[in-house]
Amino acid sequence: AKRAAANAIISPDFKFEDMGIGGLDTEFSTIFRRAFASRIFPPDLIEKLGIMHVKGMLLYGPPGTGKTLIARQIGKMLNAREPKVINGPEVLNKYVGQSEENIRKLFADAEKEYKEKGDESGLHIIIFDELDAVCKQRGSGAGGGTGVGDSVVNQLLSKLDGVDQLNNILLIGMTNRKDMIDDALLRPGRLEVQIEISLPDEPGRAQILKIHTSKMQQNEVMEDDVDLEKLATLTKNFSGAELSGLVKSATSYAFSRHIKVGTMAGVSEDVAGMKVNMQDFVNALSEVKAAFGADDAELE
Ligand code: ATP
Repeated sequence: AKRAAANAIISPDFKFEDMGIGGLDTEFSTIFRRAFASRIFPPDLIEKLGIMHVKGMLLYGPPGTGKTLIARQIGKMLNAREPKVINGPEVLNKYVGQSEENIRKLFADAEKEYKEKGDESGLHIIIFDELDAVCKQRGSGAGGGTGVGDSVVNQLLSKLDGVDQLNNILLIGMTNRKDMIDDALLRPGRLEVQIEISLPDEPGRAQILKIHTSKMQQNEVMEDDVDLEKLATLTKNFSGAELSGLVKSATSYAFSRHIKVGTMAGVSEDVAGMKVNMQDFVNALSEVKAAFGADDAELE
């Protein structure tokens, strides 16, 4: 049997604190341990252990919680190439026949390198977003009955464990609906590591807010009255993406304080001293909550 191939190295420039992921320390370290750690150990040790590298992983949970962010950061950490990203609904919407072509293309680079270099090949990370769209678990009718979903799933399976299997890939499937994913995809050797990425808790939200305001804090354009811990208590059920939206919206309120009334083209003279303050965040809170339909009970 062919030994598990494609090892990786930890990039020397990689710093944990630069990762920009808040509130997911446990999930991140589990993902790293289960899906990536084997790739940074010497191949002969892996051979002695008689194990294969993990080739597939599923990240599931609500939208905007950092699934894509984690996948990309792990790629960076391992010095892998820029991950290739494909999206379930997009694949399905292509004309019949083109989906297969897209999947083929997705794996082409990894295949080519694997043919040339075998075990010396680098790691190729492939992100499959909204994977549920191509699955037909529970008669969801995915693929509009054209069977496109089926053939995409079969193609993925053959890349993971079929006759032309590749050992230099890590396929990361993502979904908000784990219950929709074909069981066949979740078996050992396939998307065998499954990790839930949930909405951040209060300390997690504070961390995420800190990350997304770090630049304005560094540049001293955030007022001292901004209380990120307090904001974390007011943002129950916000996802990371929504918290990032909150920061953006707060900034827009700060802008609006410096737009000269009646002359929308102009900004006020004191604009150089502009800082985002707590009230901007509080204003943003109701705006972002309204937009995302978050839990109103939390807003005082
Ligand atoms: P989807 O299921 O919609 O694809 P996702 O879980 O993949 O969502 P991301 O695309 O990773 O979510 O997140 C979108 C953006 O939200 C990120 O680029 C980042 O700016 C912000 N974000 C989400 N989660 C976090 C987090 N845990 N820490 C910091 N920023 C986050």
